[in-house]
Amino acid sequence: MSRREQLAAGLAAVRQRISAGCAAANRDPAGVTLVAVAKTFPAADVRLVTELGVWDVGENRDQEARAKAAEVADPRVRWHFIGRLQRNKCRSVARYADFVHSLDRPELVEALDAAATAAGRRCTVLVQVSLDATPGRGGADPAAVPELADRVAAARSLELGGVMAVAPLGADPGPAFGRLAELAAAVAERHPGARMISAGMSGDLEAALRFGATHVRVGSALFGVRPPVVR
Ligand SMILES: *Cc1c(COP(=O)(O)O)cnc(C)c1O
Repeated sequence: MSRREQLAAGLAAVRQRISAGCAAANRDPAGVTLVAVAKTFPAADVRLVTELGVWDVGENRDQEARAKAAEVADPRVRWHFIGRLQRNKCRSVARYADFVHSLDRPELVEALDAAATAAGRRCTVLVQVSLDATPGRGGADPAAVPELADRVAAARSLELGGVMAVAPLGADPGPAFGRLAELAAAVAERHPGARMISAGMSGDLEAALRFGATHVRVGSALFGVRPPVVR
């Protein structure tokens, strides 16, 4: 099987899961965007998925994402930065990222906004919420989310998109995605344009769809098992 055929098969399976998950949740699959998480896979794979009709691509490390965006060099691709964001990476991320899903601290609003403004670009930002209080996995405390969202909405070159979360490890993701949905509703009430809910990965996208996910971030179910990351 060629790589293109492998990716086509992976994509068909993921699309099928999204349709079934939407049917079970009584939702229209047109309301769900698949973000193909290409981390550790080469730019050639990104080109192949675009040929298969996927234009939303996720990356979690700036260095890799920046290089891949430069290599793919196709303005039709929407790059989603989904990894831990650091202040000193904002300048770089703002140059290629159309979406940042992982903003979780007030100082990042300032840094990312300044970077996007300097680059003459706009960036849609999701506030990442921590659903399990485990330090090191990223995400703002739920209580801090409304104020962070307000700050993003007020920033000059940032658009508030909504909220993002990663389900807690080793637990039923349903209750966590339920809490995320409540927070998303509170954010959307204050900011009617901010309706994105980025939730669900290869292992738990059906649960996320039950709780209103609008963007599922799928890596391994589409691209295959990731090679171990060498840093
Ligand atoms: C890697 C990653 C994903 C995709 O994970 P899979 O289990 O491979 O689908 C989704 N979200 C984030 C934040 C990631 O880092």
